Amino acid sequence: MSNLTPGTPDPSCIFCKIIAGQIPCHKLYENEHVLAFLDVGPLSPGHTLIIPKGHYKTVDVMPEETAAAIGLCLPKLSRAILKATGSTDWNLLQNNGEPAGQEVLHAHFHLIPRVKGTDLREPIKGNGLPKRAWPAVEIDHVTAGKLAEQISSLL
Ligand SMILES: [Zn+2]
Repeated sequence: MSNLTPGTPDPSCIFCKIIAGQIPCHKLYENEHVLAFLDVGPLSPGHTLIIPKGHYKTVDVMPEETAAAIGLCLPKLSRAILKATGSTDWNLLQNNGEPAGQEVLHAHFHLIPRVKGTDLREPIKGNGLPKRAWPAVEIDHVTAGKLAEQISSLL
């Protein structure tokens, strides 16, 4: 558990390390408040994470202007991702807190272009709360790098 002030970088947080440039990413877009990059465990080509640049664990502790900045980038980002991937459908998924399925405790929005074989509707039964199927694959960095360039060029 971190006692840092919300918005302050958390040195143990993988997303804060990506924001700081300490871990590379396939960046699609950034502005003062927001960074968007390809998920390294994608459910489909173009699976993107949109994160606030400040370390906020969940949406309910974000300043309104940060939440608004994420919302503002969604239309253009989704259009570029759909165009580059040839998808027509997509999900926006967002989990707040570990019981809700949040794994990285820095708020993030999944923008997931939908293709056949990425059915997220079937819950997986196990101990505790049911989890949604999350059939992630490991990213192909060469293909992802080209896709990231293509998406960025459409923004
Ligand atoms: Zn963080």
